[in-house]
Amino acid sequence: MVKSSVLGYPRIGADREWKKALEAFWSGKLEESEFHSQVQNIRLNHLRKQQEKGIDFIPVNDFSYYDHILDTAAMFGIIPKRFAYESGVVPLSVYYGIARGTKEATASEMTKWFNTNYHYIVPELDGVTPIITENKPLLAYREAKEKLGIEGKPVIVGPLTFLKLSKGYELSETDEWLAKLIPLYVKILQELAQEGVQWVQIDEPILVTKLNAADLQRLKTIYGAFAAAVPSLNIMLQTYFESIENYTDIVTLPVKGIGLDFVHGLSGNISSIQKSGFPADKVLGAGIIDGRGIWKASLHEKLALLDKLNEHVTPNQLIVQSSCSLLHVPVTVRNETKLVTELKDALAFADEKLDELVLITKAISTGKAFITDELERCEHALLALKQSGERNRNDIQQAVAAISAQQPVRNLPFSERHIVQQKKWQLPIFPTTTIGSFPQSIEVRNARQQWRKGVWNNDQYASFIRDQIDIWIKLQEEIGLDVLVHGEFERTDMVEFFGEKLAGFAFTQYGWVQSYGSRCVKPPIIFGDVAFEEAMTVEETKYAQSKTEHPVKGMLTGPITIMNWSFVREDITREQIAYQLAYALRQEVEALENAGIGMIQVDEPAVREGLPLKEKDQANYLEWAVKAFRMTTCTVQDTTQIHTHMCYCEFHDMIDSIEAMDADVISIETSRSHGELIHSFELNTYKLGIGLGVYDIHSPRIPRVEEMTSMIERALRVLDPELFWINPDCGLKTRGLEETVQSLRNMVEATQIARAQHSVIK
Ligand code: GLN
Ligand code: ZN
Repeated sequence: MVKSSVLGYPRIGADREWKKALEAFWSGKLEESEFHSQVQNIRLNHLRKQQEKGIDFIPVNDFSYYDHILDTAAMFGIIPKRFAYESGVVPLSVYYGIARGTKEATASEMTKWFNTNYHYIVPELDGVTPIITENKPLLAYREAKEKLGIEGKPVIVGPLTFLKLSKGYELSETDEWLAKLIPLYVKILQELAQEGVQWVQIDEPILVTKLNAADLQRLKTIYGAFAAAVPSLNIMLQTYFESIENYTDIVTLPVKGIGLDFVHGLSGNISSIQKSGFPADKVLGAGIIDGRGIWKASLHEKLALLDKLNEHVTPNQLIVQSSCSLLHVPVTVRNETKLVTELKDALAFADEKLDELVLITKAISTGKAFITDELERCEHALLALKQSGERNRNDIQQAVAAISAQQPVRNLPFSERHIVQQKKWQLPIFPTTTIGSFPQSIEVRNARQQWRKGVWNNDQYASFIRDQIDIWIKLQEEIGLDVLVHGEFERTDMVEFFGEKLAGFAFTQYGWVQSYGSRCVKPPIIFGDVAFEEAMTVEETKYAQSKTEHPVKGMLTGPITIMNWSFVREDITREQIAYQLAYALRQEVEALENAGIGMIQVDEPAVREGLPLKEKDQANYLEWAVKAFRMTTCTVQDTTQIHTHMCYCEFHDMIDSIEAMDADVISIETSRSHGELIHSFELNTYKLGIGLGVYDIHSPRIPRVEEMTSMIERALRVLDPELFWINPDCGLKTRGLEETVQSLRNMVEATQIARAQHSVIK
């Protein structure tokens, strides 16, 4: 009999009750015991839901108080020394200290979970001796069994993935570390087996990246040790997010099941199975329901895919499952009341995906005839969206086809534009500027609330925004900045603001997903053809420009960032979506230019995030991402200066692509990349305008003049002074007014020192 399985379920709850519980506990509003009981309720609710829907293999230990990698580290007592942990179960104060920092100790680093927007806490191995603090999967298994009679499937992060995602050890120490971890894993698994656990899911997503011979040997050692110690336990070796590399090595490991992603790694995994077959003594976890996408699955297509797999495995060998944990999608579509029917009917969030899994399993066990109604309803919904006006805008499709067939190049090469621009703008050496936003005070947020609620009318709100602009234009002039900004007071979020004004976007009411810890994001949905409707930023920018003699930079979010921070349609490629966005944003760039704005910044902080996991796909992505940026910006006059901004990631390995974007000036986050970025400019000269962020805006601390002076000096050792700008690392919207003004004053002072220094050298 074919079975259904889930790899993990969202923690946050349909109404973000998990987030609320965590934050109430952190702020001292919830006692620890009350907190535990609230969290347990949430956890049991999620299990109950899967049980009621009829999922066969329900995951346990996928739930977390913050992050599953942090949980794994805590389970093995991998606690950085600075948290003064001694022994026993890790207390919540220490656990949350690692995640969020304490008065005495800084938090551990956090980084992106593969190519998702989820962030995990990076384990620090230096100086610790791993031990088992508590068998968390066992506790989770017992709880599900005792409270709900569920025969759960414990989920554990595998040793190879865990090690590869950790830091604080040398590569040459990898085997030493494995030798320490394997016995602990074995102990955990033995206790599970003793308890009567049938299946465990061991997650090894690292298997979709390139592995070397040593890693393959390590896999044999790890899974060989597990098989020898707990032969009775069925291990599902689970991979996701892409197809596995080294298929034949992996499917011959001594485990009972192999879980593969047939959504995001479809072509690679299918062709491996077709080429090499699938071992008859193993179970195939067929991840066919997209754990990361928000769309309904075409049941027809999925059944056809299973038919294909059935040529290589028997029904007894098949488990139908989600492609990865459902952590990456919102909880349910059910509560959405504001979406157009065509869109709502075509969506499937976590709960709806549970239904899909159960349906498909039923269809292959009992025959398609048993789900005819559902099949029909599903195809009907998908067809309705496909045929909707929003997805069939001929005007847009033709225009985008035409402009994407052209080479997006500026009229003059940078070296010549630069001269024309210098002549027009007459900027001093080392021009100073900021990244766009200024502090969003409580006053600003309240004003927006009043306006959204309808208490304030449009005029009242617009006049409030103009007052803020007035204040900040004056402040910027007083501080002595060269290129000013209007401050972005009318925006909450840099993607949402544009999404709300462009056609083709929809916004859910409850479509939250966990980004890190208790922080959730609600990505817009790009469901139709994206189209420019009317100017989005011209009014405020023009107003700001009317108040000063200094140039005011227009401020837009770039096509790739908008795309990477949204859920997108899947009937056309991401490349096509990027070009549609580029075409729409180009019209905004032109509108700004026509309104007399001569400097325009197109932010692309998220370029790096869309980078495919497989090296072989990366160049192609970068190529069209660069092209989309150039499409957005290439039609302006020679004198118009295009700026861009990047942050959040380390960019040192993609400088060539950044240069190819051909922005006249880039401002880029530097202070957190520990000099790596500067170092990369020693190796390649950067030939366009560039401002390396001279101070970190993530901290309320006011940077001293000397700190910035030394940053500037370091940068000038590798960058051309004639092309060098001075700016903070990122936008200032999360900062307070006083600290912002003082920090910027210090920045200007550091600039004056640099200018004086420079004229001496000259
Ligand atoms: N212009 C934006 C701002 O200053 C850029 C934000 C970002 O890089 N994330 O807020
Ligand atoms: Zn930024």
